[in-house]
Amino acid sequence: MKNINVNKSIEKSPFGGNRGLLVVLGAGESGVGTAILGKQKGFEVFVSDKGIIAEKYKKVLLNNDILFEEGNHTESKILEADLVMKSPGIPDKVALVKQLKSKRIPVISEIEFASKYTNGVIVGITGSNGKTTTTMLVNHILKKANLNVGMGGNIGESFAQQVAENNYDIHVLELSSFQLDGIVDFAPHIAIITNISPDHLDRYDYKFENYIHSKFRITENQTENDFLIYDADDRVILEWLKNNNTKACLLPFSIEKELEQGVFLKNDNIIINYKTEDTLMNISTLALKGKHNLKNAMAASMATSLLKVRKDTIRESMEDFEGAEHRLEFVLKINGVQYINDSKATNVNATFYALDSVKTPTVWIVGGVDKGNDYLDLMPMVREKVKAIICLGLDNQKIMQTFGNVVDLIVETAGAEEAVKVAYKIAEKGDTVLLSPACASFDLFENYEDRGNKFKEAVRGL
Ligand code: ADP
Repeated sequence: MKNINVNKSIEKSPFGGNRGLLVVLGAGESGVGTAILGKQKGFEVFVSDKGIIAEKYKKVLLNNDILFEEGNHTESKILEADLVMKSPGIPDKVALVKQLKSKRIPVISEIEFASKYTNGVIVGITGSNGKTTTTMLVNHILKKANLNVGMGGNIGESFAQQVAENNYDIHVLELSSFQLDGIVDFAPHIAIITNISPDHLDRYDYKFENYIHSKFRITENQTENDFLIYDADDRVILEWLKNNNTKACLLPFSIEKELEQGVFLKNDNIIINYKTEDTLMNISTLALKGKHNLKNAMAASMATSLLKVRKDTIRESMEDFEGAEHRLEFVLKINGVQYINDSKATNVNATFYALDSVKTPTVWIVGGVDKGNDYLDLMPMVREKVKAIICLGLDNQKIMQTFGNVVDLIVETAGAEEAVKVAYKIAEKGDTVLLSPACASFDLFENYEDRGNKFKEAVRGL
């Protein structure tokens, strides 16, 4: 928790120097939120977006009298900045960012900026998969406990805007590695790392170690009074902890082993062991299915019990949590076949857990833009339960090559409706049709939401 008391009449900025010109690069959710907070805190604010700014954000900027430009970055103005907030979508490699850095103008992220202006407790959640689900789960539990909580970061409304407009006691933040790249002092009181597997390597010089380092920045500024919750079954995480230090109190979770401290399983019960050992609940009553969701539930229950939420409330919340759209989302059962939308599975690790969670013969819809996938991890499960593969992508070579000798039936399709129709023909009573693409979606769809929505529409139209 930060104790910086910001007073408009003080000209000093908590970032050093005077509270002069704040330039915001990128006018999306985090950029516009930062602009609002910056203006409120007495900065002169200039927002610059190289693309076209969405109408809804333009309106907000105009209503708040915030200067902006679109379709261009006016370098002369930007290089005059005292402080720059860069949106997470803009890579460090771009020339303008390099120029700012060479002029020693601080370039930070929204979370660095906004966290200076709140005394609320921060729960920060990062990882390669499970961030959104875990963030929503933590938020759901805290809300049920009647706490004054705001959810932000990569999800929903911008954190900075919440700091400007609300006075939350607790902020639950979903944090991408890009947001963590732009921190200096940011330290969540409770950090969660759900897991780490290769992703977004194009932004990290194709070096996995750079991406891992970026994720662990979540604990870089934590003190002895803070907590780091992490997956103790994840070898990448364990390896980092062996070779690096953090001051935070370590609270691992595991579905494989009992732990001296943290969260683990005993006879299918979730046990929380921190200071005292408590039985939380039986895993059979968890609303969300699958081992990955069990892990997310463990992380969320540890975090919320640190915030003194009663075990009964945590348990009830776990039982009635509805889950996020496009993540192992049950769509319909037709003629005894269940259709599941896991469009958000954009990497192999997420699809691994999806296939793992399905207990019936499966017609698997997979494919899209491959981010350097190695499908071999999936092989045992594909052999065991996948009866047909329906490719949904422009280039399906790798999938066909990998699974050609393993699965009898592989069909190529180029749209959600076609894929669903083919699946409908193949699937028999008792089967599952699973859309879990392990790939990004932009060859055939606008984004993963569009892919998931088109899939659901097609299923409902059967
Ligand atoms: P993120 O926000 O990190 O992308 P989501 O909660 O949106 O995570 O889930 C993304 C995908 O990963 C979905 O397909 C989901 O079913 C799967 N998933 C969720 N939690 C985990 C986990 N702990 N480990 C692996 N995969 C997960």
